[in-house]
Amino acid sequence: MRIGILGGGQLGRMLALAGYPLGLTFRGLDPAVDAPLGQVAELVVAQYDDPSALERFADGLDRVTYEFENVPGTTAALLAERLPVLPPPPALERAQDRLEEKRLFESCSIPVPTYAPVSSPEDFAAALQRVPLPALLKTRRLGYDGRGQRRIDTADELAPAWEALGRVPCLLEEVVSFDYEVSVLAARSPSGTIAFYPLVENRHVAGILAVSRAPAPRASRSLQATAEHYVRAILDQLSYVGVLAVEFFVVGETLLANEMAPRVHNSGHWTIEGAETSQFEQHLRAILDWPLGSTAPRGHSAMINLLGVLPPIDSVLALRNAHVHLYGKAPRPRRKLGHVTVRAETAEERDVLLQQVLDLVTFPEALVF
Ligand code: AMP
Repeated sequence: MRIGILGGGQLGRMLALAGYPLGLTFRGLDPAVDAPLGQVAELVVAQYDDPSALERFADGLDRVTYEFENVPGTTAALLAERLPVLPPPPALERAQDRLEEKRLFESCSIPVPTYAPVSSPEDFAAALQRVPLPALLKTRRLGYDGRGQRRIDTADELAPAWEALGRVPCLLEEVVSFDYEVSVLAARSPSGTIAFYPLVENRHVAGILAVSRAPAPRASRSLQATAEHYVRAILDQLSYVGVLAVEFFVVGETLLANEMAPRVHNSGHWTIEGAETSQFEQHLRAILDWPLGSTAPRGHSAMINLLGVLPPIDSVLALRNAHVHLYGKAPRPRRKLGHVTVRAETAEERDVLLQQVLDLVTFPEALVF
């Protein structure tokens, strides 16, 4: 079986690495000649909307999936006329627009932060009326890792912030004083079977994921149950196939949905060593309609992102139960260059190992545990 992956980043690379033991082969499509997937699989280097490149990409594939959510919806829809594209292209389109995404959450009765659309200066007054300050102005499209966002502390900051974001359609969203952040990773197969991983607690620096711990140390059983209930509603409504990640803010025992990713997710990297079935293998099983694997955790894990600069790798490797993943990317400020996973039998032991890795790692901003 040959799988096509739209996008050639590290997620595509880890999908391929998980698929080879299952006898799968891969072909990626990415505009960048040095896309990480190209180091381990065939890569078509072209723009996503280049019709002749799409022909070359699709030739002989059994399935198409994506590892990058800003692939044009038209590309996914065009390919879907020829062969199965999974997750279904409508899920991709909903996730590309923060307003559509919020409406989807609301239609599934999932609480979200208070928000209002801001598409033109005429919307400013109504948005400020509805949304308490401080708030974040976020572009509806193409925002990631904290990009495309401005913090608004006073009403007169809204107009310049909207200008600075390029006068594009935005959302104004209250700043949530959350206790912590979690994500849920789930996989759904075509028959509707769903497998959930344990909740993951995430820490961000400068809007970028820095550390994930799984199972989430502070999450109660009832929080896990609520999260699964919400995510099941999304998966079923979209007739979803594949792995979906949904990020939530936790306030007491309440979950507020922040955003979703219709693909494997950075907060699921711990599953490579930390779960019976990695999110990458699980995604492939789901899109191929193979039985889903066990999501049981193997002890307690932490994943540390390597952002912008690499630590001394031999020092990391010298740590017990530390697993290094480098993506083959040139260093650039804030760029995700790799990650480290540590695993232990107890949460306390895991946190000791985590701190040992953190002592070697530099983030764009300080992270204090
Ligand atoms: P996003 O790109 O929306 O996922 O934002 C990246 C990170 O910024 C989130 O994981 C949070 O840490 C923070 N953030 C985003 N939106 C909010 C919000 N409404 N309130 C508080 N923090 C937020």
